[in-house]
Formats: sequence, structure tokens, C-alpha cells
Amino acid sequence: MHEAALSKTLVDLVQMQEFERNPLILERGEGVWVWDQHGRKIMDSISGVFVVNLGHQNRRVIDAIDDQHGRIAFASPTMSTNERMLELAETIDSLTPPGMTTAKFHSGGSEAIEAAIKAARQYHLQSGSPGKYKVISRYGAYHGATFGALSATGIAMFRTPFEPLAPGFVHVPPPHAPGGIGSLEAMRYTIEAEGPDTIAAVILEPVMNMAGAWEPPLGYLEGVRDLCDQHGIVLIYDEIVTAFGRLGEWFGADHFGVWPDISCVGKGITGGYAPLSAAIMRDHIAESFRGTRESGRMFRHGITYGGNPISCSAALAVIAEISDRSLLDAAKQMGKRLSEGLSMVATGYEFVTGIRATGLLVAVDFDLPAERLGRLGENLRSQAFLSFGPYPSGVMRLAPPLTITPEEVDQLVEMVAAGLRTFVGTSLLESPPPA
Ligand code: PLP
Repeated sequence: MHEAALSKTLVDLVQMQEFERNPLILERGEGVWVWDQHGRKIMDSISGVFVVNLGHQNRRVIDAIDDQHGRIAFASPTMSTNERMLELAETIDSLTPPGMTTAKFHSGGSEAIEAAIKAARQYHLQSGSPGKYKVISRYGAYHGATFGALSATGIAMFRTPFEPLAPGFVHVPPPHAPGGIGSLEAMRYTIEAEGPDTIAAVILEPVMNMAGAWEPPLGYLEGVRDLCDQHGIVLIYDEIVTAFGRLGEWFGADHFGVWPDISCVGKGITGGYAPLSAAIMRDHIAESFRGTRESGRMFRHGITYGGNPISCSAALAVIAEISDRSLLDAAKQMGKRLSEGLSMVATGYEFVTGIRATGLLVAVDFDLPAERLGRLGENLRSQAFLSFGPYPSGVMRLAPPLTITPEEVDQLVEMVAAGLRTFVGTSLLESPPPA
């Protein structure tokens, strides 16, 4: 047991003293289940962090990685490429619309977002619009931890310690913001007020995950697409969470029928078996980086582990597995089963104010004061499943592996139900009704 070493590391985004009192140290995983340091079996109902879309211990992916280790584990990303990366580029091309044929590979989501922002700026610079440099994104969106991606992020908690961030980033409210202040009109107004000739890109998630798994209203993505076309703005989708099956399609763009100019994917592309991400570009952008030696045209950006053969072999196996096992359809069906089950459970609890599902990304809204929300969180956490929230946002998000079975979905619903029952039970004990 290595618990003493907790003081020698920092776990992402948790208060370490509190974490050390009750740490979760995962030792083993299989399918949708993980086991902690006490041997407790817990449902990984957030797929690690929207990553483990095929569940743990997928034999096909492990074998593909083993096989690749026997060939070549690392290939220079600057003076060479590798077979698996080329194969993956072709496979991704077959999943995207015509005219979107180039994938630039990286190792993490933030890196893909950085690359997309840099590609948009460099594209404008060498296409006769050097004045286009601003990036518009939305409040409530998380786009990553590195400086460019963080500058696009619209969540104060992540930004404040590091401000001032990069210049040239403008935020607009998202459509679900109260009072209708985040409409398409707000986007149009902002583009016009900033000056369309200064804007390089708009970046958005098709479904805003961290903000609470919000779908865009009807017509919003079409409207943003039109605005970008009208003003020569590169439309970037952050599909780090939504691509590769989470929404029941290969891409969120398939689900909504509106495609961007650059699509950033990561997380589920390898199901967590190796780090990989990509910025997939339309041809007019990619072509601007190709030219003669004298022209000096190249994308001035590279990442050491980007597209390494091990990660690409994992991604190829993941894509084959999703296809062969019809996991896109499974995600839709299991998402429906989960949200319907949760809706049944929620009946009678007036503090459950909403349930949303797009594919297998499911959110439950709770309307409770902070202290009671914290208590609810503890009660839910004492059940053996992992979730994001409900404390402190008031939204609980669930995103189990696409391989979850109907019986496991029902088990998850029952665990949520048990957590709610305990919460209501203990609340009654704490404040007995007046005599
Ligand atoms: N974009 C979204 C929507 C994310 O959820 C994340 C990570 O959670 C990122 C970008 C950044 O990805 P990474 O943490 O792999 O750098």
C-alpha cells in the first residue's frame, strides 16, 4: 500500500488534505468496474474522465498495443512519421465528411485545442488576413489547462489564479445562460462589435459538458456556422469529450448535422489505453500549410508524443471495436435506458429538477442549497459508483463506458435511487417535522 506517498504528489483538481483523509486509489479495472485499495468494487460510471469508452481490460486494444510494441514504440515526429499514424489518418478521413482529410496528432486534449487555435491564426496569416487573431468562446466551457486552451476556457475557477491570460480571447454567454443572454444574436452582436476582420476563430463544444451537458438549442449551430462562413471565421469544435461514441455517433457533428472547419478529438479516441488527440482540419486550412521548400510553408507546431505508434495502434483497435460491436447504437440505447430509469427514480423528489441525455452523456439537475447539496453528494458517493457532481454545481453527470450492459445500467439506477433514499432519510432524521 502506497498511501504514505500521497503527500508526494498532487491529484488533479482536488483539495489534497481532504483527499488524503479518504483517498481513492484505483488498483484494477475490468469492464465498467474498478477496484480500490480496499478491494471495494465501484462502477466507473464516468469512464475515468469521459475516456474509457470501451471499459477496462479490452483485449483487442491491449493486443494491438502489445503487437505494436514488438514493431516500433516511438518514431521521430519531426523527421519521420509511422505506419500506424498514416493508417489512423486514413481511418479518420473515412469517418469525416469529404474535404476534411487532414488530422494533426497530439497526445492530450489541451494540445489539440492549442493546435486548432494556432492553425486558425497561422492559416489567416498566410491567406491574406493577418489581422484575424481573436478567438471567441463561451462562458462555462472548459477547453483545457494549457495557456491558449485556458484562455479560451470560460470558467473563473480555472482561470483566476493565472490571469492575465493570453490576449485576443473574447467570451460570450452560452445559450443555456439565464435570461436568454446567450442566444445566437449575442454571438452575432459580439462578432460585429469586435470587428469580423479581427476574428480568427469561434470555438465551442457541440454539447457543453462541464457546464452541465447542455445541448445547443435548435438552429444555434447552423447559425454559428453561417456567421463563420459569412465572415471568414474558422469554426472549431471541441469534441474532446463528445467524439468517438459518447453521443451515440462518431462525432457530435454527426449528431447535430453541422460540421466545423477544425474538429478537436481526444480522450475516447484510445479508450484510455494510451494518450492521443487530434485536430482534424478541412482541406483549405491544411493546404495552406503545404508548399515548396522556398515558400517556407509548414504548420509551425509540433509535440513530441503526438501520433506515436503505440497510441495510434490503440486508436485503430478502438475504432474497429466500436464498429464491430455496434457501440454507437449501444450508446444511444443505454443512454435512453439510463435517463428513463433515472426519471422514474426522480418521480416524487421535487428537488430533482431536470434530466438530460445525449447518447450516453447523462445529467441530473438538483435544486438544493449548498450545504444540503454537499450532503446529497456524500450520500451518493457512499454508493459504489463514480459521478461528476452534484456538488458544488448542482448537476450530476454520468457517462459510463459504451459497453455497459442493460443489467449494469439498472444497477446504476438502483445505486442512484439508494443514494437519494438515504439522503432523504437522513435529512428527515436531522430535522424532524414539527410536533
Ligand atoms: N476540452 C474538453 C471539453 C475537456 O473536457 C477537456 C478535459 O477534460 C479538454 C478539452 C482538455 O483535455 P486534456 O485534459 O486531455 O488536456
